[in-house]
Amino acid sequence: MQISKGKIVSIDYTLTNDAKETLDTSTGREPLAFLHGSGQLIPGLERELEGKASGDSLNVSIEPEDAYGHRDDSKKTSVPKEQIQGADELAPGTQLRASGPQGEQILTVTEVGETEVTVDANHPLAGERLHFDVTVREVREATPDELAHGHAHGAGGHHH
Ligand code: ZN
Repeated sequence: MQISKGKIVSIDYTLTNDAKETLDTSTGREPLAFLHGSGQLIPGLERELEGKASGDSLNVSIEPEDAYGHRDDSKKTSVPKEQIQGADELAPGTQLRASGPQGEQILTVTEVGETEVTVDANHPLAGERLHFDVTVREVREATPDELAHGHAHGAGGHHH
């Protein structure tokens, strides 16, 4: 069976950056299971996986525009410390979750000053070219429940 929209796909993967540092890997874990075509993966990786079958391996490099986008300096803002809970424990590199008009966002602390904290709303991997080493483990039809929920159930997916 080949990967196409609406299939449940399980993959083993290792993600590295241009400096060959490993950013994420499924090694030592269950393979990642996802509903193909639902936007759970970055667009570039979904496109590369289209048409592949169980047992196929691929090595792909994905440019920022097909991954997490380019960095946007206007997404850096300074926030008064009194508006942040636990501001005294923050250090550059700390990641915060914030909810805003566009849903949940990850903010990375870049600077901690006397009275203000500078946070960056760019995705931590924005601006990075990403390299994926992927092996397809399984391709199967999605169940009606999985299609309704928009994600994979079972090993490597959601457990309700
Ligand atoms: Zn579900």
